[in-house]
Amino acid sequence: MSDHRLSLPFWEGFLVSSLVVGGDLQVRLVADPTCPLICSHCGAEAPCLHETTWRIVRDLPIAGLPVFLSVAVNRLRCRTCNRCCTQLITWSTVVLDADTRRVIWVCEGRSREAIRPFFIWLGPERCRRVRAVAMDMNTAFDLEVKRHCRRAKVVYDLFHVIAKYSREVIDRVRVDEANRLREDKRAANT
Ligand SMILES: [Zn+2]
Repeated sequence: MSDHRLSLPFWEGFLVSSLVVGGDLQVRLVADPTCPLICSHCGAEAPCLHETTWRIVRDLPIAGLPVFLSVAVNRLRCRTCNRCCTQLITWSTVVLDADTRRVIWVCEGRSREAIRPFFIWLGPERCRRVRAVAMDMNTAFDLEVKRHCRRAKVVYDLFHVIAKYSREVIDRVRVDEANRLREDKRAANT
């Protein structure tokens, strides 16, 4: 199914290109072709597309159905800062109460500064009572939890551990193997 009229909240600049419903809901998101491609490093428009990689993101469940987003992340060649960088994407942070599964906080960004207001809102007394925090492998989250909730144990979410392993280890092996095969072919032709 392809319907470029669909968009999701918190995914400004992206359109839904397909939806697959099975044991879970898989949503494929592509960059809205009408939005300019912005360099995440210098903020300039960088229309020169280098490559597109796919990132799997787990979203909040809908009617009890797990939701996974495949997000097309564009790498651009920026003529302003002369770098190869990712397209600017505004990520959001969602905090859930693990017992009730209810959303208790949403903010824009994934930096320490972006999530700090959550801990200020929670207050020192409630921060002290937090025993464990499950999160993706984001250093900013880790540092901010350790700063405000000193008694909490940090648990990395299995989904994110596997996604990171796949992205950084399996992809690295794949690229290295492709390069090795290319080298072998070149050596055989000389
Ligand atoms: Zn740039």
